[in-house]
This record gives sequence, C-alpha cells and structure tokens, in this order.
Amino acid sequence: MILGVIADDHTGATDVASMLVRSGLRTVQIIGVPCASTDAGEVDAVVIALKSRTIPPAEAIEQSLAALRWLQQRGVPRFYFKYCSTFDSTPQGNIGPVADALMQALGTHYSIACPAFPENQRTIFKGHLFVGDVLLSDSGMRNHPLTPMTDANLVRVLQAQSRCKVGLLSHLQVAKGAVSLKQVVEQKIATANNETLGVIDIADAITNDDLMVLGHALADVPLVTAGSGLALGLAAAYIDRGLVKADAHAAQLPAAGGKAVVISGSCSVATNAQVKHWIASSKPAMKIDAREIAGGQPVAQRVLDWHAQQKETCLIYATSPPEEVAALQKEFSANSLGEQIEHCFADIAQGLIAQQVRRFVVAGGETSGAVVNALGVQSLKIGETIDPGVPWTSGQVGKPLLDTAAPVLLALKSGNFGTEDFFAKALAMKVAQ
Ligand code: ADP
Repeated sequence: MILGVIADDHTGATDVASMLVRSGLRTVQIIGVPCASTDAGEVDAVVIALKSRTIPPAEAIEQSLAALRWLQQRGVPRFYFKYCSTFDSTPQGNIGPVADALMQALGTHYSIACPAFPENQRTIFKGHLFVGDVLLSDSGMRNHPLTPMTDANLVRVLQAQSRCKVGLLSHLQVAKGAVSLKQVVEQKIATANNETLGVIDIADAITNDDLMVLGHALADVPLVTAGSGLALGLAAAYIDRGLVKADAHAAQLPAAGGKAVVISGSCSVATNAQVKHWIASSKPAMKIDAREIAGGQPVAQRVLDWHAQQKETCLIYATSPPEEVAALQKEFSANSLGEQIEHCFADIAQGLIAQQVRRFVVAGGETSGAVVNALGVQSLKIGETIDPGVPWTSGQVGKPLLDTAAPVLLALKSGNFGTEDFFAKALAMKVAQ
C-alpha cells in the first residue's frame, strides 16, 4: 500500500477512491474506523470513510487518529486527509483541528490544503475558492444546513480553525512546473520546521494540469490535505515513478439484481434541481415531512407502505429549497433536525432491503453515511463513474439485516455533484458484470 486516505464523509471517500481507481490504482474503501482484524486485501490504496465532518472536533480528531494508526500499522507511508471540494467546515472545524492532529501524530511540520477540483468547477486562485464562476461565499454553499460557507478566502477560513500558520502556495509558483514547485516545497518544509506547530499552505489550482504539478511536487510529503482532485496528480506521480502499476480492470462490480430506489436528503442547489427534474418527468416521488419527523410521527413506516404499492423506481426525498430549510431551522435546532431526518432515511433503507431493493442512488454526504451504516455495509468496491466524482459502487449487506450477505449497488452522490438528470442517468447505467 502506498497511500492511506482518511475522508471526513462517505461520499467524499467514494469520490477520492474513484479518482484513484480511474488512475489505475487498486483501491478499497472501508466504512468507519477499521478494527484490528479488518483486511484491506491486495491493494495500492485504502480510503477510510469517516463521518466526521460535523461531529465535535475532539471526536473527529480521535477517529482520524485511530484511522491513521490502523494505516500506519499496515506500513502505509503517505497520508491524505480528504474533505469536500467546497471546504465544508465551521469556525470550530473540523478541517483545521484534524489536519493539526494528523501533522502532530506524523511529526511533520508542513502540509497543504487544496480542495480544488477543476473538473467539477472548484478552482482556487490567490487562496480564494470559486464554485463555477462565483466565489464560494456567493454560491449555494452559503445556505448549507450544517456548514454554511460565507467566506471564500481559504487562508482566513483555515486560519480560524488551525493552530498552524496558514499560508499560500500561489498559482505563480504552481505555474512554473513540478521541478520548480518541488524546490519551493523543500524550502517551505525547511522554514516550517522552525515553527512550533507547523505550516499549512492553501494551494492554488485552476486546472487539472495544476493538480498534476502539485501531485508531482508533493508526492513525498507525509501528509496532504485536499479535496479529491489532488488524488489524480498524486496517483500519476506514483505511477510515473514506478511505485505502482496501473490496473485496467479496477472498475468492475458484481451483479446485485433486485429493485432500485433514489433517496435524497441533500438540500444543495444541484440536488434541488435533480429532484425537480425527476418530479417533472412524472416519476413516482414521496417527500418526507421534516415537521412530522420532528413531531415523532411514524414517517418511515408510512413511506415504506407507500413504496410497497409502487411499480416503478421511486424517489424518496427530504430535499427542500433554502427558504424552507431556513424556516425549519428557525423552528428546530439544525443539527438535531438533520440527524432525525438521517435516522428516518436509515429506517427507510433497512425497510427497503426487505422489499427486495438492491440498487440505491443516494443524494447527500451525511445522508449517504446514514444509509450505508443502516445497511451494515463495511467496505465498497469502486466502479464506473456516473458524473465526475460519483461512481457506482458495490458492497455487502450483512447481518443483522439479512442472514446471508447480499450484494448491493450504491451510487452515493455528494450534494452539489451531478447533472440535472443524474438520478435517471445513474439508474440507466449497466454497471455490473
Ligand atoms: P449535502 O451533501 O448536500 O451536504 P447532506 O446529506 O450531507 O447533503 O446534508 C444535508 C443535511 O440536511 C442532512 O443532515 C439532512 O438530514 C438535512 N436535511 C434534509 N432535508 C432537510 C430539511 N427539509 N430541512 C432541514 N434539514 C434537512
């Protein structure tokens, strides 16, 4: 194993794993902190999917360090802390506190932070994150239910969270190419060694070529922190150096059979458009009512009864436009409402297994985490990509939900990813053998 990735949510983990698979690295994604007996198999990279984005910082640190120890015990030499390409976090964390703790545990004083993913319209220039043509703070992320992003200056955002000194690896430096950037990085490491806690540089990147340059220049750094894009550059650097060989069959999945469903708990702009598109095409859809959930009504059972009567593939959603989310959050606490909705989706997912559903398209990072946990899926094989950053995956539903392990196919979509017709497009793909 040449790379260990610690991801702060499940869809993000899938996203970075798919980047590694696409580059030809044999990759397994493990759900949650693995136990001592977990076997990753013969792979080049392991991605550990945590659900640590919005939990208290101390817990996020504890889980991330446990994941790091598991990887270290298996001789992994390099590490990658993966978070969202929109830098989803709050002034309390968890990107800064986790990065600080990982650096300290590894005894390294220098790292970078690079959420850029140009293929998905996330670019960084002079430390400012753009989503498409607008600054992060002008994008839909400003209304995110759990991690509203109201400042696009990532140096400032990260400095508010980290005890390290936060600086910039500027586009001027990146544009000079890998050889020159490697020298810059070496100088930065030498200077950072004089800092008590270390330095984290926000790394500018506006094209995939920039990610390649960064990957080659940072291939030997013990820890990088990034969105999924940088994985392309790092994987290419490892292959160029002969550290791994690219495998052409990395993306094949086993057949799962059964029915399909779409579950959507994301309230992001893209997901709202995807839900609208599904409903406009007259496909069956049922909205779960956040107020009824908060009121303790048996919403999951009602949804399952409705679903049992349907002949076609259905959408079950809590997705709502920003003004509705804002109104609900005024009425209830944001975190507890989000958790209650996730809990409801978890119950629904378990009930759907009993109704022979074996293919799940899920929208929302936290929502996907809740569904995957509810199904007892422990690791995912990464398959073909549906839209940038979103592959089909397969896992095993096991005890106590089913007596014998059964394969399920899962498309786990981070809120803002995917085209408007994403749900139908994912369902139409022939992904299994
Ligand atoms: P994304 O990937 O878009 O961030 P997530 O699933 O990670 O989506 O987060 C969305 C959060 O919003 C979840 O906790 C979900 O339960 C919650 N949520 C879903 N619908 C509503 C709603 N109508 N009002 C408030 N919160 C909601």
